Amino acid sequence: MARHILSTDPDAVRETVAVLLAGGLAALPTETVYGLGADAANGAAVAGIFEAKGRPRFNPLICHVSDRPMAEETGIFDDTGRRLVDAFWPGPLTVVLPLADGADVHPLTLGGLSTVALRMPQGIARDVIAGVGRPIAAPSANRSGKVSPTTSAHVERSLGDRIDLILDAGPAILGLESTIVMPREGEIVLLRAGGITAADIETATGLRVVRPADGAPVQSPGQLVSHYAPHGTVRLDALSVLPGEWLLRFGSLPVAGEDRAAGVIDLSPRGDLRETASKLFAALTELDRPDVAAIAVMPIPMTGLGEAINDRLRRAAAPRG
Ligand code: AMP
Ligand code: MG
Repeated sequence: MARHILSTDPDAVRETVAVLLAGGLAALPTETVYGLGADAANGAAVAGIFEAKGRPRFNPLICHVSDRPMAEETGIFDDTGRRLVDAFWPGPLTVVLPLADGADVHPLTLGGLSTVALRMPQGIARDVIAGVGRPIAAPSANRSGKVSPTTSAHVERSLGDRIDLILDAGPAILGLESTIVMPREGEIVLLRAGGITAADIETATGLRVVRPADGAPVQSPGQLVSHYAPHGTVRLDALSVLPGEWLLRFGSLPVAGEDRAAGVIDLSPRGDLRETASKLFAALTELDRPDVAAIAVMPIPMTGLGEAINDRLRRAAAPRG
């Protein structure tokens, strides 16, 4: 069972920081809902978020920051981005920005995207992030498909047996998710409605808030079937290697023809799904180049994190549209 610590305990911040720095999972109170936090730079820890929630897909996670310098090291702000966060941070507004060079964020946190969603929360969560010293990835602290938790008791019921610590600061004030926006050429695209209204944003920035048009390119990632396919073809459930193929290995089974593979990347020699999840995006990115014509991927079980891993691989393998 998760340890439980009250925000009024003098050791609350220090203990929560220690869990996160060790790659653990901690439920954190914010003004929106309780978040399930992990070190955004630690791929295995972030894989643990997906595993604990039972998420069937690697959708990108919001990165929570404690101050502006941390935000500016993580995302590239333009004038509109700055105006937005000047007006609403700390608070329930998430901005999607291009990822900064050298940002301390693992590709799994971003779902393999080159954008990052940033938010600065209010309250003790912010002290915890400051203590960690880099961004904390945190979706809502509930099992996938269930309602977002607004009290520590909700978190306990949903995830108590799957996480390390619950930091309890009483009920969330807002009980509603953050508003997600993306600044774009003198206007602001509303990606998700939430605690801050479009009218609030227009008043504070003097800019128009637009909704993504139907049929427009999908802003929220991972929704296109052939999203993030690498340059070459991808063949799943491979138990042999064809001449010229690269091999993505999983587990220790021998693979026929492995000696003729153009190259091999080991996702996890011991068949560990967390390790596989944390290496998957880097592997697909590494193989996304013109000299890699074909990639064979060994079978990966559908249990636990395997569902999201296989979802991502199916997208990589889907016919290109
Ligand atoms: P949540 O489940 O509250 O963590 O919400 C995460 C949502 O934020 C995702 O489903 C996306 O819609 C959005 N989001 C997070 N990261 C990104 C990103 N890098 N680029 C675009 N949208 C993002
Ligand atoms: Mg949620």
